[in-house]
Amino acid sequence: MPELIEIEMYRRAFDPLLGRAIDFFEVCHPGYVRPSGAPAEAFQMLVGGRLFDTHRHGKLLVLVIDCQSERIELGLRFGMTGRLLVDGVGPIDQLEYASSKNDPAWDRTRISFGAVTVTMRDQRRLGSIELDPDTSLLGPDAATVSASQMIEAFRGRRASIKGVLLDQSAIAGLGNLLVDETLWRVGIAPQRSVSSLDALETTRLARIVCDTVAELSDRGGSHTGNTFAVRRSGAVCPRCGAGMAVDSIAGRTSWWCPEHQR
Ligand SMILES: [Zn+2]
Repeated sequence: MPELIEIEMYRRAFDPLLGRAIDFFEVCHPGYVRPSGAPAEAFQMLVGGRLFDTHRHGKLLVLVIDCQSERIELGLRFGMTGRLLVDGVGPIDQLEYASSKNDPAWDRTRISFGAVTVTMRDQRRLGSIELDPDTSLLGPDAATVSASQMIEAFRGRRASIKGVLLDQSAIAGLGNLLVDETLWRVGIAPQRSVSSLDALETTRLARIVCDTVAELSDRGGSHTGNTFAVRRSGAVCPRCGAGMAVDSIAGRTSWWCPEHQR
């Protein structure tokens, strides 16, 4: 599944297209439009507009389109299986959680910038496109989250730390792999309630979230963590040698070390 590291790679794939005009916009699947039920025809207002800028907040990629009288933001969400293709080639086709299959029937949106066509291909259709998306619903971005932002995000919550870190309204951008890797690095068990963390633990967690995102970005993806290879039965913790544990926590398959993660 694409996490913020992969979405950032998708964002950079638009760099060569800055300043180019959109001359074709196709919504291949009406169910891909947000808010749900909004008319797919509305996206035609982007045709003729130029790509002015891009930014990312968590797993939301935003294209800023300069349309004569106004700037319109186009939000792209990639869900569990969404991929970005530029002229049919994915910038990150090694992505571990994407399907190895490659079926044009899964194309949900096609945007042409002159000779270059960008496609969102999404087998499970959990991604979406939205005009002027509301980023106020997202928590602070995990790549830069500060200790005080994380303390604030945890305030009043009682759910598991795993569940809260996956909750995009608390902290934006983390998915299953990054959360498991971060909690392994910081030594916190995924099922522990966030309400049990003290300020020192939360401060350390914020720093390690940022460090992990930066390090795995340099390595090339969310699947390059130290724990990725031990997400299998019989594997041992790379740090202390204890057998890795697995369970469904917050609805996601979670791997952790029961010895050093407390
Ligand atoms: Zn361990």
